Amino acid sequence: MKYSLSLGRVAGIQIFVHWTFLILIGWIVYINLRQGMGAIDIIWSVLFILTLFACVTFHELGHALAAKRYHIKTRNITLLPIGGLAQLESIPEKPKEELVVALAGPLVNIVISSVIFVIIQPNPETIQSLDLTRLSHHNFLFSLMVVNIWLAVFNLIPAFPMDGGRVFRALLSFKFERHVATRIAASVGQLLAVGFVFIGFFYNPFLIFIGLFIFLGAQAEAQYAEAKSLLTGYTVAHALMREVPLLKPTDTIEYSSDQLLATQNRNFIVADGGQVVGTLSRDEIIKALREGKSQEAVETSMSRDFISLDVNAPLETAWSQMQTLRKAAAPVFQGGQLVGMMDTENVAEFLMISEARRKEAGN
Ligand SMILES: [Zn+2]
Repeated sequence: MKYSLSLGRVAGIQIFVHWTFLILIGWIVYINLRQGMGAIDIIWSVLFILTLFACVTFHELGHALAAKRYHIKTRNITLLPIGGLAQLESIPEKPKEELVVALAGPLVNIVISSVIFVIIQPNPETIQSLDLTRLSHHNFLFSLMVVNIWLAVFNLIPAFPMDGGRVFRALLSFKFERHVATRIAASVGQLLAVGFVFIGFFYNPFLIFIGLFIFLGAQAEAQYAEAKSLLTGYTVAHALMREVPLLKPTDTIEYSSDQLLATQNRNFIVADGGQVVGTLSRDEIIKALREGKSQEAVETSMSRDFISLDVNAPLETAWSQMQTLRKAAAPVFQGGQLVGMMDTENVAEFLMISEARRKEAGN
C-alpha cells in the first residue's frame, strides 16, 4: 500500500503501518486534551493504542502463519486505523483450510486475553474498584484483556468480510458447492447487516457503519465467488489476448500514451529482446504524464513485480491471483515463450459471455 512505513519483518512477512495511523494517534491525544487529561494520561492512552495494534498485528500473523501451513504466502500485513490487513496471495479453497486460516486470527486474541487473565487473575471486587474512565497501570492489562475478547467476538460475526463469514462459508462448504455456500453465507451476512443498521438507528450510530461495511463486503464476496464459479473448467488459453501490445524499456512515456490512443490496448507488456521485464497499465501511463515524465523511458514507470501466467493454468486461479494482487494485466507464457496477455477487462468480457451462455442453456 502506498504511503506506508515498514516496521520490519516477522517470519518473512513485511509489516507496514499506513500514514493515516498518525491521525488516529493525533485524535487520541486531542480527545484526551479536550477532556482535560494530563500528560501521564495521554501517554497511557497512546501506549494502549500501540499495544492494541500489536495485538491486531498478532491476529493478522495468526492468519498468515496458518496460511503458510497450506503453502499460501502472505505479501504483507498493513496496519490501518480501522484494523489490520493481511494480504494473502490466495484464499484457501478447501473448506478445512479456510476454516483453520479464518479461525487462527481470533484464536490469537483469545490466547492473549487468556494469558492476561492468568497474569492478573481478576475477581469481581477488584474489577469494581477499577476506574475504567482513565487508563493507568491499574487497569491497563484488564482493559487490554477486554479489548482482545471484543476483537475475537467482533471478528467472529458470521458475515463477510469478517473472519466469521469465512468460518461460516467453510462450514457450509462441507455440504454445498463453494459458490452456493458463499451465496448462503453472503445472504445471511446481509440479513445481519440490515439488522445492524436497524438497531443502529435506535441505539448506536456506529452499528449503522458496521452494517453498511458488512453489507457491501458480503455483496463483493458473493460476486467474486459467482465469477469464480463461471470461470471454473476453463484455462488461461480461453481468455488469452494473442496480440501482445509490446513496448521496449527505452520507449518514452509519450510513445506509450500515443499507443494508448491509437489502439484498443489498455495495458502493455514491456520486453527487452524477448525477455519480459515489466507491465505498464493505462493508470501508470497517466500518472507518469501527470508527473511530467513524458520524455522518460517506460522502464522508470512500469511495474516490475508482474505475475507470469501459464497458458494451461486454470482460469479461475489466474483471475483470483490477479484480483488479490491487484494486477490489471499479466503476460502469458507457454513453455517459457511469451504467447499473449490476459487483462481483467478481457476476463470481464469472458464472464459476460459465459453468463449469457449459461442463461441460454438454462432456458
Ligand atoms: Zn482476522
